[in-house]
Amino acid sequence: MPKKDSFETLAIHAGQAPDPATGAVITPIYQTSTYAQEQVGVTKGYDYSRTINPTRSALEACLAALEGQGIDGPTYGLAFASGMAAIDTLLKLVKPGEHVVASNDVYGGTYRLFERVLADYGLKFSYVDVSNPQQVEAALLPETRLVWIETPTNPLLKISDIAETAARIKNKNSQIKLAVDNTFASPYLQQPLALGADFVVHSTTKYLGGHSDVVGGAIVTQDATAYEKLKFLQNAVGAVPGPMDVWLTLRGIKTLALRMERHSANAMRIAEYLSHHSVVAEVIYPGLPEHPGHQVAKRQMRLFGGMVSLVLKNGAAAANRMVASTRIFTLAESLGGVESLIEVPAAMTHASVSGSPLEVPGGLVRLSVGIEHVDDLLDDLEQALKV
Ligand SMILES: *Cc1c(COP(=O)(O)O)cnc(C)c1O
Repeated sequence: MPKKDSFETLAIHAGQAPDPATGAVITPIYQTSTYAQEQVGVTKGYDYSRTINPTRSALEACLAALEGQGIDGPTYGLAFASGMAAIDTLLKLVKPGEHVVASNDVYGGTYRLFERVLADYGLKFSYVDVSNPQQVEAALLPETRLVWIETPTNPLLKISDIAETAARIKNKNSQIKLAVDNTFASPYLQQPLALGADFVVHSTTKYLGGHSDVVGGAIVTQDATAYEKLKFLQNAVGAVPGPMDVWLTLRGIKTLALRMERHSANAMRIAEYLSHHSVVAEVIYPGLPEHPGHQVAKRQMRLFGGMVSLVLKNGAAAANRMVASTRIFTLAESLGGVESLIEVPAAMTHASVSGSPLEVPGGLVRLSVGIEHVDDLLDDLEQALKV
């Protein structure tokens, strides 16, 4: 599938030609660990499923096409058993004594991996406000090898200027790589490689899978040398997804564009509604003109996504009451599925980072706005805020 096809078309077809053996229109779930060899070492390109599996290859090609849609030249995708497995594998490109600059609003699991696992192997980390590219530049050391950003961030939805960050880093030291965790935006809303990033990382568990029924991760890059190293690591370390899981992800991706349109439209309506509500102190949504990252988000994102955060005037107690009172919004961690979820980050997803640079206010509520009818969602929030 040539890359000039539109996003929606690539999402349905890239890497997924009808099965050559049977004509099956949908990529089969090749639920096999091994492959028959005609003679010693004579294979059809497949020998063992940790190394390569046709269902996984289809997902890897599809993700590469989606993240590479806006750029010339080949892109390469690798699928992993989870977002964390993808991040861990990418961090294996950084050696003991080398340094990484990361966001002070980084995903909690990423912070835990950096501080409680990788720091023990001699990697060094600094955390800065990456929504300010000057702060990123100021944090670069001679031994810095990687800058790690998320945009929008979780749960404060800060926006980083990917193009400006890339330019500043490369200007200082062209050896430093920029990785963007694109989980919150998805490739439909934002394509970091086209803006100068070296690596895009995903928790495919979220919008790419889109149905809260599978855990997975991915890395996409244009850098052929780095890809060969990462592919070696993918096989050597072995944190690969199973065929059923990659198939569910492929199936989810087919509707990604439609879902992101609806997630974004619903989130915008909800953000506007909440910003006029008397019990709400603050609404954080990059689509609102008063959001400090609005102009950058407008430049680098197609729409503003499905995540909305709000701070209640009456703090943690009010937040806990609200999330216990919704009918359609389900009280749960995770995000990016078709169904709406609600949570209190300080007590749930971000409980483990209290007292760290990632601590969030107790009155903060995070919404993962689903694709239900927006009127039902608005009614649900209205009644929950009355409690
Ligand atoms: C969920 C998430 C991860 C981790 O992915 P898993 O699939 O849960 O391992 C990483 N980054 C972000 C932004 C996430 O939301």
